[in-house]
Amino acid sequence: MKGLYIHIPFCEYICHYCDFVKQVPKNDDVVDKYLESLSKEIATYKEHFETINTIYIGGGTPSMLKPYQLEVLFTAIKEIKASEITIEVNPESYSMDKGLIFKKYGINRVSLGVQSFSDEILKFVNRKHTKDMIYYSVNNLKMLGITNISIDLIYAIPGQTIEMLCNDLENVKKLNIDHVSCYSLILEDKTYFYHQFLKGEFQPVDNDIEGEMFDIVIKELEEMGFEHYEISNFAKNKKYSEHNKLYWTLSDYIGVGLGAHGFVDNYRTYNNKSLNKYHDKWQAVSVKQTKEDNLADELIFGLRLMEGIDIKKLETKYSIVLLDKYPELKEKIKLGLVKVNNGFLQLTRQGINFGNQVFEVFV
Ligand code: SF4
Repeated sequence: MKGLYIHIPFCEYICHYCDFVKQVPKNDDVVDKYLESLSKEIATYKEHFETINTIYIGGGTPSMLKPYQLEVLFTAIKEIKASEITIEVNPESYSMDKGLIFKKYGINRVSLGVQSFSDEILKFVNRKHTKDMIYYSVNNLKMLGITNISIDLIYAIPGQTIEMLCNDLENVKKLNIDHVSCYSLILEDKTYFYHQFLKGEFQPVDNDIEGEMFDIVIKELEEMGFEHYEISNFAKNKKYSEHNKLYWTLSDYIGVGLGAHGFVDNYRTYNNKSLNKYHDKWQAVSVKQTKEDNLADELIFGLRLMEGIDIKKLETKYSIVLLDKYPELKEKIKLGLVKVNNGFLQLTRQGINFGNQVFEVFV
């Protein structure tokens, strides 16, 4: 089974930390033309439709599409009988008429871009929603029967106190949802914050405080009954993101839309990031993976999952002995960053905070 990732590269405004492929469209024509090209690109994968089990519509801000534009998008995928169809929604662009269109086309999972419940923090990162809009979106979606809801949270934002973080987590509890993705703020190149940083006007949060905040996130969410199943992801009632699990297990997924990536039949595909180029030619390049590439990817992505990697299965698949192939791993085990548990290679609690020090062994 495969996944299908669809990128909607439009936003109503640009957040100060964002390095995704996105733009504020000049008018509806820009979006309409994009959806036309995107629909054509999706149709080129018709022969794969039967094997697609998950669809993820990300961005950008897919929920900023007007109702008629959502209809165009969903019509392009309506022949695909996927068991999980997720759309990313920003609270300020959600309305019940859009929720009804989600229902009509079988969208059964929403990933809500919350980031924070604090007006001060939301303003600092240039988000345009309020806490009330978050509650309205979640309650309205539930009322319509879309109950598989995930929210994104960001921590380690300059100016964010431990108290603010705890307040965010308290609100997660009140929302009564089954999935949370939680990331620390990363200072990415070419973002507003990065320019501020170069001018000395942005001070990233200290690593120790970031670690302390992540500890709080894990502890609080686990106390609420969430299972910490991937470095940044938490689920209740086994409501994992089935689509994202494809990435972590090196499974096939098709990527369509501006700047989208895919992994199909052992090729990594990369779409054009420029809108003008995209209209003429969707895909910029596709690169065949070697067995070595796949092994490294399987280790790096697989270790993100808390259950880790089945060592025997991996060794048989790649005809290797793991610790002979990567002798530096022994050092990471000694340092307490990674462990072998019931035949699975797993990050330790400390390793979760310093994953990159483990992943560097494989590249
Ligand atoms: S974070 Fe999301 S809403 Fe903000 S600019 Fe990036 S893609 Fe758009």
